[in-house]
Amino acid sequence: MPSAKSLYELLLSMGIKEEIARGFLEVPREYFVFERELLWQIYSDSVVITYEDEEVHTTSSQPSLMAQFMEELGIKEGSKILEIGGGTGYNAAVMAKIVGETGLVVSIEYNKKIYDLGKKALERAGINNVIFLNKDGFEGEEKYAPYDAILSAVGVDFVPKNWFEQLKEGGRLIAPLNVKSSTFYQPTLLFWKENGWIYAKQRFATSFIKAGGKLGNLAEKVYEMYHSLKCENFLEFPMAFESMGIVEVLSAAVSRFGVEFLFADGKGKAKYSSEFWRGCGDLNRLSNIINELEKNDYPNLSKVLLKFDLNRENFRIFREGF
Ligand code: SAH
Repeated sequence: MPSAKSLYELLLSMGIKEEIARGFLEVPREYFVFERELLWQIYSDSVVITYEDEEVHTTSSQPSLMAQFMEELGIKEGSKILEIGGGTGYNAAVMAKIVGETGLVVSIEYNKKIYDLGKKALERAGINNVIFLNKDGFEGEEKYAPYDAILSAVGVDFVPKNWFEQLKEGGRLIAPLNVKSSTFYQPTLLFWKENGWIYAKQRFATSFIKAGGKLGNLAEKVYEMYHSLKCENFLEFPMAFESMGIVEVLSAAVSRFGVEFLFADGKGKAKYSSEFWRGCGDLNRLSNIINELEKNDYPNLSKVLLKFDLNRENFRIFREGF
């Protein structure tokens, strides 16, 4: 009979560490599924739709991928973790088992209906070290900060500064990014905080539900800023398309509209086509990024280490093999 034990054994056979796999052994995944799924599906290593109606839908992510995220984050007994995109609570429950009674998981789900189901499921599973919150994950949760680790289980258009601020020195953060220059996948980046700087490196090519609220809708924001800024000076910078993902991550101010990319950060605006950015206003931020890219021969996001400050004003790009 498929059970948490069979999933646990599968994860071990895939090379997942016992301390992490154990969390999956201790949580009945079926408690968190509100759709008619079969047990063999629930305990297979796959994404499971946990709730769906005409308005909303949420899924429990693939267990082995979540396990790898947890390994990247180095979570262990006693860790304090922030999860964004709580869904119906399964992943939060698994992490709660791993961190144990001396640790804590704070998990944020912004949809009220999904949140209510998650709250119930966590209670039913007898999990008491998860603080489950119903709000927009953009804010993070200041009250229990700083965190050893932050895990986003939802694809975000950018990582908000709040999360970096709420991360412990030496802490790690993992997040799938809705990079618009990649139509095939979302790069999942691992970020870490060292001497006040943030470092980032791509770790996985993934496909998550895209965030709504303040963690999504970047295209709308960029579009509005682009069209509301009136400026006349004309500026032009060449840039190889390969590096667009890096500009998206470092600026958090780029989005895609059909075949064009727009940049708008409230100070300047630019449009990308035929390997050139053309725009006006104060484009220092964009041109600084492009200078760094040029120095490094226009690398691809998957091949670099990024280093930047919390305001994303100072940054460096290092090619792999740095
Ligand atoms: N960790 C969950 C999987 C979550 S799927 C589990 O184990 O089941 C992603 C979830 O992120 C969805 O439930 C979605 O409603 C939620 N979400 C989307 N945008 C959000 C936002 N801005 N803040 C918080 N949660 C968000």
